[in-house]
Amino acid sequence: MEASARYRRAEIVVDLGAIRRNVETLRERVEVPVMVVVKADGYGHGMLAAARAARAGGATWLGVADRDEALALRDAGDTGRILAWLGMPGEDPTPLLAADVDVAAYSVAELTAIATAARALGSPARVHLKVDTGLSRGGAPVADWDALVAAARSAELAGEVVVAGVWSHFACSDEPAHPANDAQESVFRDALEVAEREGLAPEVRHLANSAAALLRPSSRFDLVRFGLAAYGLSPAPEEASAADLGLVPAMTVRARVVLGKDLDAGAGISYGHTYVTERPVHVALVPLGYGDGIPRHASSAAQVLVGGVRGDVLGRICMDQFVVEAPAGVAAGDEVVLFGPGADGEPTAQEWAERCGTISYEIVTRIGGNAGRAARRWVEG
Ligand SMILES: *Cc1c(COP(=O)(O)O)cnc(C)c1O
Repeated sequence: MEASARYRRAEIVVDLGAIRRNVETLRERVEVPVMVVVKADGYGHGMLAAARAARAGGATWLGVADRDEALALRDAGDTGRILAWLGMPGEDPTPLLAADVDVAAYSVAELTAIATAARALGSPARVHLKVDTGLSRGGAPVADWDALVAAARSAELAGEVVVAGVWSHFACSDEPAHPANDAQESVFRDALEVAEREGLAPEVRHLANSAAALLRPSSRFDLVRFGLAAYGLSPAPEEASAADLGLVPAMTVRARVVLGKDLDAGAGISYGHTYVTERPVHVALVPLGYGDGIPRHASSAAQVLVGGVRGDVLGRICMDQFVVEAPAGVAAGDEVVLFGPGADGEPTAQEWAERCGTISYEIVTRIGGNAGRAARRWVEG
């Protein structure tokens, strides 16, 4: 739901030109076809708008978690390759297959459900078999891999499926020196050998997310899956900043100050009085809170750009509002920028993440995903 045009609490501005250029930059860097991941409403940036920008930047594939997300992309007119990787138990894959979406299979049971639906439809389903190489999340455990491959091969021979992909996902790709990366890639290569030995010839073998695609060239195979980096944020901030990677953050969050006022020394600010002024300060009231996806962990931790300078968040983030220190004279109606590309001195989502003890993925996805009260606006920067 978007806010009505009449009253605007705040604005989330998404620069689609930045997403398009980020995708172009990433494509040049990896030299293999690119999937852009637009799950969770495009990491809060708006799935359909992000998908269009990603396609314009040259994304051959789009990736989503939910099947409904894939269908929404089709309903919006996207005709390119789409992979949906998280089916719910008991879900009928028929609408997805009818919409020509590639699907993932983690188990023989899931593969069988897909093959059955495809047989009824009368055309083979394109399936990506997922092997768990060590994340211990989705995918067939190595012990079950042979059985999944064998079931897929016989469904392929029966004309029910085409094994379009074999894939997996890293646990520690943001830490390139972590031994799990070598171990997972090696398990993946073994799984590919099993698949090939059984007669499968997947069109795309894919393992890398943003961090692996950028930092571990050996993991690129035939396709890489870029989520965060496409939105202009660094997937491995300890290794390389967004600027180092040539990426520009696409999301800016800003609001108008509701009230400016002077407080005396000794004033407790916000719930619990966790912050008490040590000297007289000028403060500004910002009309955003955890109801808008602002992390409560930003309490007395994050900063904003207000009156041309950085202002600290003072005291707790409330459901709808929080208080920041502001230069004298900052008053109702003045602009406050929570985060953006960083070019004008405003914090970035990465900086918010560090100050809140989380990752930038969560900052943008939560705020964008809560864009019911703030207005989300898309621009071609
Ligand atoms: C979310 C996701 C991605 C994208 O990860 P980033 O780190 O954002 O690039 C890739 N693959 C899978 C399976 C995912 O769930």
